[in-house]
Amino acid sequence: MNLKNIIIAIDGTSASGKSTNAKLVAKALNFVYVDTGAMYRTLAWHCLQKKIDVHDAKAVAALCRKWKTKLECVEKNDLRAVHLLVDGYFPEKEIRTAETSAAVPHVAAVPKVREWMKEKQRDCVQFGNLVMEGRDIGTNVFPETEFKFYLDAKLE
Ligand code: C5P
Repeated sequence: MNLKNIIIAIDGTSASGKSTNAKLVAKALNFVYVDTGAMYRTLAWHCLQKKIDVHDAKAVAALCRKWKTKLECVEKNDLRAVHLLVDGYFPEKEIRTAETSAAVPHVAAVPKVREWMKEKQRDCVQFGNLVMEGRDIGTNVFPETEFKFYLDAKLE
């Protein structure tokens, strides 16, 4: 599939500097920044809000099928970024709590959730040229982009 915009995909391991670098690149090029981890975190947070057991893949997939979301492009501190709203609300601090962090991997392991996320992440081209970060962007979400980077870092 031909892409109508430029997509810079930044994949990599956890804590390798994906967000920091993706934001710097997005600001420098005036591209729109997409934090895909935040999208998974938002679903995990929503599951907790709705008292859905995150270990129950079917229940998580069912919630993901019906939750009311909207993608928005918001400019703040010279950075344009995509926000995923749930019922018109953008959860920001809530998705960074220890409880949400512990729930995310379970939610992210559900194949139907990954399909849903991929579709939404591809929908972000509506906002223009993108810098999108996450572990599977260059391999799975935008495999056709020419601009793929993989970040890794030593523990120390
Ligand atoms: O990058 P961040 O730590 O916010 O991502 C939270 C979690 O979401 C990751 O640990 C991973 O389980 C999941 N994730 C994913 N695929 C992505 C982005 C995040 O599975 N593209």
